[in-house]
Amino acid sequence: MLVSNWNNYPRVEAALRGFRSQEEARDILGQADMCIPRGLGRSYGDCSLGENIISPPGFRRFIHLDPEKGILECEAGTSLDQIISVIIPHGWFLPVTPGTSRITLGGAISSDVHGKNHHLHGAFGRHVLDLRLLTPQGHVLVCSKNENPEIFQAVCGGMGLLGLILSARISLLPLESVSIRQKTIPAYDLDELMALFESHHQSTYTVAWMDCLQRGRHLGRGLFMRGEHCRAGEAPCSGLTPPDSKGLGIPFSPPFRTLTPAGIRAFNSLYFHRKSRRTGCEYSNIESFFYPLDALYNWNLLYGKKGFLQYQFVLPRATSQAGLQKILQHITSFGLPPYLAVLKLLGPGEGTLSFPEYGYTLALDFPVCPGIFSLLNALDLVVQKLGGRIYLAKDARMKKHMLWQGYPGAREFVELKKRLDPENKLSSLQSRRLGLCQNPY
Ligand SMILES: Cc1cc2nc3c(=O)[nH]c(=O)nc-3n(C[C@H](O)[C@H](O)[C@H](O)COP(=O)(O)OP(=O)(O)OC[C@H]3O[C@@H](n4cnc5c(N)ncnc54)[C@H](O)[C@@H]3O)c2cc1C
Repeated sequence: MLVSNWNNYPRVEAALRGFRSQEEARDILGQADMCIPRGLGRSYGDCSLGENIISPPGFRRFIHLDPEKGILECEAGTSLDQIISVIIPHGWFLPVTPGTSRITLGGAISSDVHGKNHHLHGAFGRHVLDLRLLTPQGHVLVCSKNENPEIFQAVCGGMGLLGLILSARISLLPLESVSIRQKTIPAYDLDELMALFESHHQSTYTVAWMDCLQRGRHLGRGLFMRGEHCRAGEAPCSGLTPPDSKGLGIPFSPPFRTLTPAGIRAFNSLYFHRKSRRTGCEYSNIESFFYPLDALYNWNLLYGKKGFLQYQFVLPRATSQAGLQKILQHITSFGLPPYLAVLKLLGPGEGTLSFPEYGYTLALDFPVCPGIFSLLNALDLVVQKLGGRIYLAKDARMKKHMLWQGYPGAREFVELKKRLDPENKLSSLQSRRLGLCQNPY
């Protein structure tokens, strides 16, 4: 069957095999020649694509919830929205959450996903107490910061290349209310936007939407948002009722792109000016604060049949200002504006192959269209020169040298892979393109 991830690029012919028990998973891995785990396919690109896909989402039982200590154990195919619906009524929330709740626990660990609180609370892997890993040779290893620590560090962010995560225990965040106290502050250029991140670095959640269609003195203008969980009774609609995660959908994939540069220009302007007027504190909820895009559950189809690309990079803090400015200038000079741009400040990195590092990360959504690959190649040169890296969970096209220069842990990762997966059973289109396999050099 034809399979693609969230951005619908690339699409590949693949055989998909699900499993419901550890034994079935071991059999599939034993028989497979080059296969890759795939959760809910919410990555952008080819990290969970290949000829043979092993699919954990059917493996999704809750194993144990300790409601006193806030510790949850479940199988790796469990989705974050299922987890949220169970833990919120007990007064707990995810310690780290990405911008969608429709991903699996295994996918969250393998990409070591980050949220709006990375600058304070790190990535998902920091909150994993231990996990069970089925290695390509059929052994089940318990991995944590104390047990098999080298493997644990590499599996968090390891893109499914070291083994199949079967289950994990994670520590949760105490929650008194589903309401979020949020404040939006307009910034009229890049310097102002970055200054807001710096002056609000003690806020739990920070993020900015950027209008990449601006040139000259308004280059990098945007809306900075910060948020905090409310105390019980603080907001009008408090309480611990989990969100309704169904969302609305569009009924079919339009044959053409419904989003156009002119439409985006009009939207950006309207959005910036409307939001700039409402700068007081507002109350929102978990759904609209963390997962606004989940409200339209198949918004990815709006980009049309060719799909889209997300280009997410991080630059070291020292080079972020100059780098972001250069990137925005390239975008305007190529005349190919991204349809969505999100800026975050990250704290120090942890895993061997994890994406986050201390600095600014910008995620840009571009439709697949003529000229886009030339623009992204030009952006690569800036990111590479300034010591940055591209997020593997958002990559469909990076060249091998970018990975080996941007990820200093890549050599250590491949050495470990040789030990755990001597026959190179686990491989994705991405791992082969980037040389994350037996003979990388
Ligand atoms: C709207 C939207 C917003 C997003 N926002 C963010 C964000 O804010 N921050 C962020 O970090 N990411 C974000 N993402 C990306 C997403 O969180 C990650 O790509 C995540 O890994 C997807 O999980 P998945 O279950 O869909 O796995 P897939 O996309 O199918 O796979 C991702 C990786 O995990 C591996 N994998 C999956 N299951 C297992 C398993 N059981 N064992 C071993 N390996 C496994 C795969 O091999 C692959 O390498 C966003 C994605 C979308 C669509």
